[in-house]
Amino acid sequence: MTPDRVKQDVVVSLQYKLWLDDGTLVEESGADEPLVYLHGHNNIIPGLERELTGLLVGDHKKVVVRPSDAYGEYDPDNVDEVDRRDLPSNFEPEEGMLLSVQDEDGHEFYAQIVEVSDDTVVLDFNHPMAGETLHFDVTVTDLREPTPEELDHGHVHAHGHHP
Ligand code: ZN
Repeated sequence: MTPDRVKQDVVVSLQYKLWLDDGTLVEESGADEPLVYLHGHNNIIPGLERELTGLLVGDHKKVVVRPSDAYGEYDPDNVDEVDRRDLPSNFEPEEGMLLSVQDEDGHEFYAQIVEVSDDTVVLDFNHPMAGETLHFDVTVTDLREPTPEELDHGHVHAHGHHP
């Protein structure tokens, strides 16, 4: 049975645009590439998920999400200065570069190079959108029941394949 509205354990397709406070457009779903996610399983930021609950197919909504309900407040302590000798020798760091880093448990996260000097590099581990209030413009384009496997995993499998 097709679900009648956005609720727990429903697969939701969305067209969306995302702006920052200053009006910069930072993300936009493609015309034939909606964002597809399983509702109620922390697959999207909490502030957006909460506001989508109850919407019907075709519903359109503007949602403003505070940093605490999005990618968190900017934490000035989450910045580290590392010795350039600790970086790979063939690596040429540049300000503004985004690095993909893995912790001991294999979790991948990003760090941005914010300063380069002769001996050290300053890395900012805050999420690029930390501290930002997010302005979404969303339209619900489809709803469906998840497969038993998707529900078991807590996420959507695109075209039946595991991501
Ligand atoms: Zn899976």
